[in-house]
Amino acid sequence: MDPLRCDVLVLGGGPAGAVTAALLARDNIAVTLLERARFPRFHLGESLAPAATAVLDDLGLRETIDGRYLRKHGVAVRCARTGRQQRFRYDEAFEPGAALAWQVPRADFDDVLLRCARAHGAEVLEGHTAEDVVFEEGFARGVIARREDGRQVSVRSRLIVDATGQDALLAGRRGDRHPVAGMERTALSAHYRHVARAEAEAEGDLELILFPHGWIWNIPFLGEVNSVGALCANNWMRARRSAEPLESFFDRTVEDASFAREALSTATRLTPVLAHQALTWRANRRVGDGWLTVGDSGGFTDPLLCAGTTLAIAGAARAAAAVRGALDHGDVSAERFAPFARALDEASDLFLGTTRALYADELSEVLLGGGARSDRRAFASILAGDVFGDDPPWRAAWRERYHQAAEYPIG
Ligand SMILES: Cc1cc2nc3c(=O)[nH]c(=O)nc-3n(C[C@H](O)[C@H](O)[C@H](O)COP(=O)(O)OP(=O)(O)OC[C@H]3O[C@@H](n4cnc5c(N)ncnc54)[C@H](O)[C@@H]3O)c2cc1C
Repeated sequence: MDPLRCDVLVLGGGPAGAVTAALLARDNIAVTLLERARFPRFHLGESLAPAATAVLDDLGLRETIDGRYLRKHGVAVRCARTGRQQRFRYDEAFEPGAALAWQVPRADFDDVLLRCARAHGAEVLEGHTAEDVVFEEGFARGVIARREDGRQVSVRSRLIVDATGQDALLAGRRGDRHPVAGMERTALSAHYRHVARAEAEAEGDLELILFPHGWIWNIPFLGEVNSVGALCANNWMRARRSAEPLESFFDRTVEDASFAREALSTATRLTPVLAHQALTWRANRRVGDGWLTVGDSGGFTDPLLCAGTTLAIAGAARAAAAVRGALDHGDVSAERFAPFARALDEASDLFLGTTRALYADELSEVLLGGGARSDRRAFASILAGDVFGDDPPWRAAWRERYHQAAEYPIG
């Protein structure tokens, strides 16, 4: 079996893998991307944050994306228990930038990104599952993959980007997936037609409803369909009766959230209710000799703050820069990738610290009214995904306040 050869082998064609591949291929680097599925395929993670917008712009995708998806200018936070609510607009952030994101049905969005990678010259092989990473003298040098027809394929490369999402090929193989204590959650979700919507610019807001069992997302797409989901603490999941269909359990769950109950009162469910594990976890190592991870394959953070697509897409831009530098210097060692790993760790910790503070009820003033204006702007900045680069003063102060919350048992 003659191996395929490339400079960079990207595993996984979700946002992290597709964007990394597109950016590298655009620079005439020989990129091969292996994707297990055939696109389009369903995926959760349908609400983007503005941090991704500059990267999508850089790839020339603004017009395509703006034509296909509903614009998102902010996030509405509502508390089912107290009835209090507040809207955060992205232009309230300290560095608002484009102050714009989109609500994206992922089957279509991921397909757009994968086609973009192809258009920039990446060799994209769908229906190819990476099974094993080949190491030589400690360096990742390729993979053994399996095609849908069962045949094995060997691919050799100068380095590997693991973008396999929650499958986390390398972290899984290395036994390096560590749950963050107290962050075990399960998501129930479905798509609906005719959910009640806000007017004008606020129509595209992500709605977050805090309620006794966790929180609910309401994501409106362009047209008449919304994605609605509940991220529930696992002790509530145990309240599901034996043999109770997920649909009826989901209905009972959202009954306890007034805002969701009202929004769904006019709606028709279009899809079965699906259950997904949403377990926050970290790896001790995001990078190694000849490899780096990007997106969920390097760790997963509770989706409350839309951390996932920010870390995947803005993280992919940083991964591509790190890979470019490594190839230019002929040095693909873990040491070379250390600044990239640090940047991703710091960004993830901001999301995690903020999420934990929110679950611990430390942010209710900021979230629901009465907090200082600077805190409100800081929270809007986190919602916008302004989590990368040297800390400006607002972020240093926020990190200091909530870093306790980000400390997690690991190992
Ligand atoms: C309940 C829930 C709600 C969420 N909501 C949001 C949200 O609203 N906003 C947000 O920003 N984020 C959200 N997220 C997170 C978001 O879904 C992810 O962070 C995002 O999809 C990560 O992108 P990725 O490219 O790293 O991984 P993925 O999108 O998962 O892509 C990984 C790809 O790798 C492929 N693959 C896996 N293993 C292999 C293999 N061995 N070989 C080849 N290919 C392989 C898979 O088929 C897949 O296509 C949510 C997550 C959950 C669980």
